[in-house]
Amino acid sequence: MDRRNFITLLAGATLVGGCSKSQFEDKNININRNRKVRLKLATSWPDNFPIMGTGVVEFAKRVKEASGGSIEIEVYGKNRLVPALAVFDATSSGNIDIFHSGPYYWKGKNIALSIFGGVPFGMSPIETMSWFKNGGGLELWREIYDRYNLYPLLGGNTGPQMGGWFRKKIESLADLQGLKMRIPGLGGELFSRLGVNPILLPAGEIFTALERGMIDAAEWVGPALDISMGFYKVAKYYYSGWAEPGSILELTFNKHSWNKLSKEQQAIIEMASNELNSNMLYNFQSENSSALEKLKREGEIYIDKFPDEVTQKAKEESKKLMEEFASQNRDFERVWKSYSDFLNKTKEWSNISYKSYLEDRG
Ligand code: CA
Repeated sequence: MDRRNFITLLAGATLVGGCSKSQFEDKNININRNRKVRLKLATSWPDNFPIMGTGVVEFAKRVKEASGGSIEIEVYGKNRLVPALAVFDATSSGNIDIFHSGPYYWKGKNIALSIFGGVPFGMSPIETMSWFKNGGGLELWREIYDRYNLYPLLGGNTGPQMGGWFRKKIESLADLQGLKMRIPGLGGELFSRLGVNPILLPAGEIFTALERGMIDAAEWVGPALDISMGFYKVAKYYYSGWAEPGSILELTFNKHSWNKLSKEQQAIIEMASNELNSNMLYNFQSENSSALEKLKREGEIYIDKFPDEVTQKAKEESKKLMEEFASQNRDFERVWKSYSDFLNKTKEWSNISYKSYLEDRG
């Protein structure tokens, strides 16, 4: 061995020695910091609910794997710990650590929260994600949720939703007058401006209400989830929509439960939430495609867009509705400004890229 090689070898050995010592120390620190935590997560969906429910179970599994077992998240479907729509308050008070639901359910607490769930004639899924991540959406959301002792992470996206199932054909605005329709969130507010009587019903009660004619129409999600609800058996008219162009789901932590996690544990959860968020969109795309094919093959249904008269009126009313809420609620005004500024900027690009391409592709 010549002298130069000997020096290299010596330097290497010193380096390895140095590394082992600091790795040993880091490991000790991590063991203390990443103490095992067990967190309770409640959802607004039944156990094993397709895509949304199974997605959050997969999230918990991935977090456990990635954390080497230091984070265990127990997932409880609706009503097992708290009712579907009580998850917000139960997490806010610290009775549970995390909830998986959708911000559109919380408009009664603060109408501004519904913007985070999605807006009629608003942004597409990719535009919305871009607003959350790069346009200030996530910061605004966290700022408002902080007042409720909550810390939200993105927890999925349904992709574009359908307009709903109707027992009768809709040919004009007049046909909507007085209809009772299950539809939550801003979509519900908007349909009420079109003469519809919006009704908030939990998932398990919609089919029976529609079958018995207690309601005339129901909006749920899209083919993938609607098909298993059986709506096509009792309402033949299925319309595409503009009320929910890409609804956001949330994975929201009690702030104290979030803060007591180590930085490493928070990073793992954040990465897994990003994975859940994108995987859900991919799953909705493929499952919607398959279910649409099946519905068209097996059901005697009529699929169409709403008549232009209905869509134009809805667009006008939607603009007015947003302006009204903004004038009544300071939070809404701020969030809406951020959202609509981003939408106005990004839609130019979306129109010359996605819209043109989809039209050309046919
Ligand atoms: Ca919906």
